[in-house]
Amino acid sequence: MGPLQIKELLQTAPEQQTVTLKGWVRTKRESKNAIFIALNDGSTIHNIQAVAEPGQFSAELLAAITTGACLKVTGQLIESQGSGQAAEVRITDIEIYGVADPDKYPLQPKKHSLEFLREIAHLRPRTNTFSAILRIRHALAFAVHQYFNDNGFFYLHTPIITASDAEGAGEMFRVTTLDLDKLPRTDEGKINFKEDFFGREANLTVSGQLEGELGALALSKIYTFGPTFRAENSNTTRHLAEFWMIEPEMAFFELEDNMNLAEDFIKKVISHALVHCKDDLHFLQNRLAEEEKGKPQNERSIPLLEKLSFVVDNPFERLTYTEAIEILLKSKPHKEKKFQFPVGWGIDLSSEHERYLVEKHFKKPVILTNYPKEIKSFYMKQDEDGKTVRAMDVLFPGIGEIIGGSQREDSYEKLLGRVHEVGIDPQNLWWYLETRQFGTAPHSGFGLGFERLVLFVTGMGNIRDVIPFPRYPKSAEF
Ligand code: ATP
Ligand code: MN
Repeated sequence: MGPLQIKELLQTAPEQQTVTLKGWVRTKRESKNAIFIALNDGSTIHNIQAVAEPGQFSAELLAAITTGACLKVTGQLIESQGSGQAAEVRITDIEIYGVADPDKYPLQPKKHSLEFLREIAHLRPRTNTFSAILRIRHALAFAVHQYFNDNGFFYLHTPIITASDAEGAGEMFRVTTLDLDKLPRTDEGKINFKEDFFGREANLTVSGQLEGELGALALSKIYTFGPTFRAENSNTTRHLAEFWMIEPEMAFFELEDNMNLAEDFIKKVISHALVHCKDDLHFLQNRLAEEEKGKPQNERSIPLLEKLSFVVDNPFERLTYTEAIEILLKSKPHKEKKFQFPVGWGIDLSSEHERYLVEKHFKKPVILTNYPKEIKSFYMKQDEDGKTVRAMDVLFPGIGEIIGGSQREDSYEKLLGRVHEVGIDPQNLWWYLETRQFGTAPHSGFGLGFERLVLFVTGMGNIRDVIPFPRYPKSAEF
């Protein structure tokens, strides 16, 4: 549909047929006998080479063909004279759609830092690196929907504006239409949210899980895949203020089933990328190798494709939190007091501990289960020992936590007990609690941060570079 794209053209046998291509100039090179224009339209990492003869076009027109300009080129698709590509286009006609003044256009054919590119997020999709990332991101999103559809899950659209302030997953962004200069007050002087749009306090959701559970307790297997928001003021390479979360919830799944699903899901989605994004992954692999050229051999990372295949081909390590603490207590960095944070049963594992387990001890993805209930959310199913809950975190090399999930508490009494213990007003969650009174069922689910998956698959180092327009503290341009 629509004009022929460069990706299709590059797969077409050259038989001197007339073709028209449209795209942006990546480079222009002039030699004595020819003018070479590399065009790219974002359909593939590869450019197509279009060749003109000197004198064929006016100097004025040729001068306007600079990096970033947009062209319509007509010509014959012929076997390439040079090496590196099968076909090229012998130009008969050029129309310039849009020029890009080389004195002003910021994307010149040289290496730009990722920090600089973040400042020009409106143009960075035109670079090789970002177009590769965006195509891979698309393929992964597509694979997510395909996986769930193939496995009997229904896509449930949970709300983005929520009034339940009880999830405790993170700091929330407030949604209001109140005039901030003239806030209505109650008799006690508090802000009167009864006068606000929803007649109560409202926020952007931090997770679709609670509503997802309502869906699972009716449709058996559902998933959400939508934006979530956390006003966490953390300037890390792993956190965004707006990110996309994938949250399956399944009735009749226990913790073991939940782990099996999480592992199979991640492997299938990564496999999809390995099959469908070969060229882009190769490009990013080479980019990474280039970047690490200056490092000593033992500090360089495993080639990207090898890393991804390893994750697909090997079982994840599964152990309990308690076992993990024992390993950490016996570890060299603990004995040599190299960990910044103390280790002991009951601690919330910090990223140095998680990294030790994943990157040093097991050297593969790890699923940790049965965490102390005090460090996990109120809705997780309590174990018989009264101390731990059926939580599971999936930890990935270089990423840390990629999935957080659990079997959910299905006993009304136990859930209500935890709600009181953690100080949530049960009134706010009456609808959630009611599902445990009417036809409750064992059920489980998890949340996977989509950008952390994209980060892992692309091998990029900063989560701000795997979403088109990142939102983080002090940054909401574009
Ligand atoms: P972390 O400890 O890394 O902050 P979390 O415990 O807050 O994660 P959950 O509330 O369990 O994470 O959210 C589920 C998943 O969402 C996480 O496993 C992670 O993949 C992703 N995630 C959480 N917070 C963010 C964020 N600010 N930006 C991007 N992804 C996130
Ligand atoms: Mn967090």
